Amino acid sequence: MVKQRPIRIAASLDCADYMNLLNDIRSLEEGGVDMLHIDIMDGNFVPNYAIGTNLLNKLRTRTSLLFDVHLVVRNPQPAVEVFTGLGADLITVHMETSTRLHHLISIIKEKKIKAGIAMNPSTPVAPLEYLLPYLDLVLVMTVEPGFVGQKFIPEMVQKVTSIHEMVAGGGYDIDIAVDGGIGEKTVPHLRKAGANIFVGGTSSIFSGRSSVAEAARSFRRLCEGE
Ligand code: ZN
Repeated sequence: MVKQRPIRIAASLDCADYMNLLNDIRSLEEGGVDMLHIDIMDGNFVPNYAIGTNLLNKLRTRTSLLFDVHLVVRNPQPAVEVFTGLGADLITVHMETSTRLHHLISIIKEKKIKAGIAMNPSTPVAPLEYLLPYLDLVLVMTVEPGFVGQKFIPEMVQKVTSIHEMVAGGGYDIDIAVDGGIGEKTVPHLRKAGANIFVGGTSSIFSGRSSVAEAARSFRRLCEGE
């Protein structure tokens, strides 16, 4: 039996209310989230655009929440070079976007930033084997990336199990994060499969059913299995 890494929760910034963004950030702090999950989209790797450097720079001066930057972009190297300078605590690049992943990971880690690899739902687990010694995190996309509010793909639970077995089998100290459709119905299965970082969006923290702070607190209780 592998030791379970600490459960952490991230709030997906793209699901926040941009018209009241600072209020939402304060509510997330009050609700005890560990990090802001920031999707950077280029309109190419996914057919959507999100979050530029100017907003991130401004946000960095207004909150001490960890910045978990998810580069949902076709050409990650220039993006890595930009976002390592913007106060990111963790930068995740997509496995499908580069033939030079070891190089990208080394650029991130040279800046003393944690490095993650994200995988689309249809991307096989096997190539991870050669990256695990260099990684801090694997991000399993549990929906297709690009748009909020998509339906969870149930086969991703087995994928998390497979990755957890690889990580545990190799004795690596790596977080497993899940992103997309993460809520009441999916969290218990994903936690059991070995996920320990849960990205909350419109299925949880920003569902609108309660205040953001209260929703963040109940999301943590859900993720911690209480
Ligand atoms: Zn993301």
